Amino acid sequence: MTTATATTVTATTSDLLAPEPIDDPAAHRVLTGDRPTGPLHLGHYFGTLHNRVRLQDQGVEMFVLVADYQVITDRDLADRLAEHTENLVLDYLAAGLDPERATIFAHSAVPALNQLLLPFLSLVSVAELSRNPTVKDEIAHSSQAAVNGLMFTYPVHQAADILFCKADLVPVGQDQLPHLEVARTVARRFNERYPHADGSAVFPRPRALLSEAPMLLGTDGGKMSKSRGNAVALGATEDETARIIRGAKTDTERRISYDPENRPEVSGLVLLAALCQDRAPETIAEEIGDGGAAALKRTVTESVNEYFRPMRARRADLAADRGHLRQVLHDGAERANAIADATLAEVRQVMGAI
Ligand code: ATP
Ligand code: MG
Repeated sequence: MTTATATTVTATTSDLLAPEPIDDPAAHRVLTGDRPTGPLHLGHYFGTLHNRVRLQDQGVEMFVLVADYQVITDRDLADRLAEHTENLVLDYLAAGLDPERATIFAHSAVPALNQLLLPFLSLVSVAELSRNPTVKDEIAHSSQAAVNGLMFTYPVHQAADILFCKADLVPVGQDQLPHLEVARTVARRFNERYPHADGSAVFPRPRALLSEAPMLLGTDGGKMSKSRGNAVALGATEDETARIIRGAKTDTERRISYDPENRPEVSGLVLLAALCQDRAPETIAEEIGDGGAAALKRTVTESVNEYFRPMRARRADLAADRGHLRQVLHDGAERANAIADATLAEVRQVMGAI
């Protein structure tokens, strides 16, 4: 995917756009993850999953976290949690993550990771947490009548997710950039407040790694999300894919163009076809020309189904063995616990705890 251009990206100092191969893979560690709120969708794939597999294949050490505690930030119950968690693992493996090389685990199974939340919470102000734009957006889409405390501490919890294993690269979608800034702030303030005796820092300052599609739009023109009923799942059938794309919002102008600023819905569809075909979105738009929304949707459906066909076949094979999916999580938790225990011991030591 080298030819597709990015949709709008809010630049911050931590952004890294679709990087060239990493110079020194052994010098980096990647942590990233997803909430087990439903099946992964095309936004996940082009937003972060593809980058994860690429980095893994370049030899970068990879941690992939199922953020199961974070499900209850915006709903009362974590509905079908075990099923969603196993299905995330299924999507990871189908997409090419290799449990021999990637540590895949649920953060609720790693107590020391969660304990890092306590010192970390002391490093950010309530005002900083309240003005986080991603928290505001998730509150707006929350199914709860009242906002719970976990919603506000979510970005700091995510800092613990990233820093427990001292990850320095975090492949995420655009909505995660404000959270990444919190993780960077927590790392910086912790290092200033609690240096090692020799002055060295405990934590790296993690950087976000954005893809060419940092915010893929869903069929309603908003961010494609598991919880908003606007997504094409990676594991959807070809017929489901066709039906969902047929229902996507477009506009009244017949001629198809790629203009994310003024025509977000049409451009989102064009971008999707471009990503699947590994061609420039402008070329795809040009080819469809006066064909209108119906031709655009046909092209998108065919492109998506063709691109994901092998992955979906792998997914169907892997789905038969639920025991294997659980074993992957079990082994991952064992590795993650060893690392989290060591980091917590280091944190307690620099803080002077006995
Ligand atoms: P939910 O609606 O339950 O919050 P979600 O679809 O937003 O689900 P998350 O588990 O919150 O998914 O996000 C996991 C990762 O995928 C994050 O790095 C996020 O930035 C990225 N991501 C999610 N949706 C998109 C999208 N539409 N485009 C690009 N990246 C995305
Ligand atoms: Mg989300």
